[in-house]
Amino acid sequence: MRKKFVAGNWKMHGNLATNDDLLQSVRAGVAGLAVEVAVCTPYPYLDQARKVLEGSNVAWGAQDVSEHVQGAYTGEVSAMMLGDFGCRYVIVGHSERRSYYGDTDAVVAAKFEAAMKAGLIPIFCVGETLDEREKNVTADVVTRQLDAVIARCGIASLAKAVVAYEPVWAIGTGRTASPEQAQEVHALIRDRVAREDAGVAAGLQILYGGSMKPGNAKELMAQTDIDGGLIGGAALVAADFIAICAAA
Ligand code: PEP
Repeated sequence: MRKKFVAGNWKMHGNLATNDDLLQSVRAGVAGLAVEVAVCTPYPYLDQARKVLEGSNVAWGAQDVSEHVQGAYTGEVSAMMLGDFGCRYVIVGHSERRSYYGDTDAVVAAKFEAAMKAGLIPIFCVGETLDEREKNVTADVVTRQLDAVIARCGIASLAKAVVAYEPVWAIGTGRTASPEQAQEVHALIRDRVAREDAGVAAGLQILYGGSMKPGNAKELMAQTDIDGGLIGGAALVAADFIAICAAA
């Protein structure tokens, strides 16, 4: 039985004062829930997250990582540095990184590898754009994104990772994939992994992301292959995030 996992992606939001409230509320609000919980904050607030969350059942992580180990890469942050701040998770391949910052499948696979080598758990995002869904190529796109990581890091690497299916058209739009639409792609992801290794596929946590809210979380997470959520907007409102964790 896979455990449910809810991860918040704060994106570029918050400040020291608002974060403190949010972190304290989440820490208290999910205490005792039988669900894995994490928050992925902007880099400068990782130490704040550590200070508030240490010793709780909420893990913390970052939203991106360099594909390089170290060196002359101005502005970049390595996986080892994230480890220094106690990060357990790091998001790789978020659609905003893919579309605004040019993270190709190859770059995402390299970031995934860098995260793993530093002992972090990648939350590896895949998903199609609206145009791709309308052209009926969702399965091709998601398979191509998955295969880039499988080719570089091997199928066993997915035993120590989390996959997040995030249809780009549902992120921050208020437009959620229906439970059936989401389940279909989650099953496709699990089947693709099962073709390589049935054991890895059976244990793989596959999160849904895209306008998940307290009102739709339960139905989405009741689907056979939906093991939790990657939450953007609703992760910034403590009561909403806690309600999603409770639904899980
Ligand atoms: C996300 O940023 O990964 C996300 C799913 O955002 P939202 O929940 O706001 O759609």
